[in-house]
Amino acid sequence: MSSNFPLDPVALTEALVAIDSRNPSLVAGAPGEANCARFLASVLSGWGFAVSLDDVRPNRPNVVARIGPPGQSPLVLNGHLDVVGTDNMVHDPFRPFVRDGNLYGRGATDMKSGIAAMCVAAARAAARGALASEIIVTAVCDEEFESIGTRALLDGGLRATAAIVTEPTRLTICPAHKGFAWIEATLHGKAAHGSRYDVGVDAIRHAGLLLASLDEFEHHVLMSRSHSLLGRPSLHAAMISGGTAWSTFAELCTLRIERRTIPGETGEEALNELQFLCSALASSRESFDARLSLVCAQPPSDLSADAPLTRAVVAAAQHRTLPGTVAGLPCWTDAALFNEAGIPALCFGPGDIGRAHSAEEWVECADIDRATDVLEDVCAAWGK
Ligand SMILES: [Zn+2]
Repeated sequence: MSSNFPLDPVALTEALVAIDSRNPSLVAGAPGEANCARFLASVLSGWGFAVSLDDVRPNRPNVVARIGPPGQSPLVLNGHLDVVGTDNMVHDPFRPFVRDGNLYGRGATDMKSGIAAMCVAAARAAARGALASEIIVTAVCDEEFESIGTRALLDGGLRATAAIVTEPTRLTICPAHKGFAWIEATLHGKAAHGSRYDVGVDAIRHAGLLLASLDEFEHHVLMSRSHSLLGRPSLHAAMISGGTAWSTFAELCTLRIERRTIPGETGEEALNELQFLCSALASSRESFDARLSLVCAQPPSDLSADAPLTRAVVAAAQHRTLPGTVAGLPCWTDAALFNEAGIPALCFGPGDIGRAHSAEEWVECADIDRATDVLEDVCAAWGK
């Protein structure tokens, strides 16, 4: 049946949304991407792609599907098959339905519509004999957690001249997005009876000093930095915990800080800057003791507005009477990993990131068709 699946991106979006692919690293007991990947692989085989299903970890596959002249300036179209949890959703997450021209379901906007658009686009361009380049469709696992899917592709030596990640951008061309760093600060105090100010050291109040210092740092340093598409970097205190009892000086306080980085900043630099703030506090207050660690960092993504890929997508969008607007994307995506690996990458897709991970998730059916048209033109023009 799959071999006869229509070249219809809205129908394919619906079929993909109907398969639960919640990320098991985010939701205990969730099924993961395997069922969705197997279904998509069979559809793509039926459309003439050379398809492989590669397990990155047991039951966590990537779909890699190739079509067009092998090895000729390959263009990657990339999307993630995993979706986030469905708690508090106000409609059935895995029974997609269309209302007023919008398709509802978990993953409708993030990002099964993008996957459907890129698959149908490549298949249509191939079917009309328009491909001068090989198109490599990669539908990966785990972008919502640690991106083991796209990392495995790149570590496995995937070769390509460019990549389009079809995350929801509302059909805007997004060559840049921020990175992030998760930094944990552990403040060490000294436990003592609440009456013993002469002995106790209050780790929670020291966390307060650090918070005040972070506030100054954001206003005086981060606000002075800027990127043309992304604006300024930022930070926020995401979680705090500490203390044991009313009448006890808190021995420990843990503060988790997220720093959003712009191109030119790394996670290590972000850590060093906070280290510097802590050193300054320690030099003015002998008992101040904070230890910082970089828990996780993902790089920013930055492709020039006149890179061949950016120009190709802008031209295709304008040819299809879209504005071809170029802008920054607020969230992190796998495009950063492609750029870091030397494969120029940008984001372009249907749907709105503001509706991702939400209680209500939907995508405009007309935008799925528009994205497909633009991507079909990019595929057909690539390498000519
Ligand atoms: Zn996404």
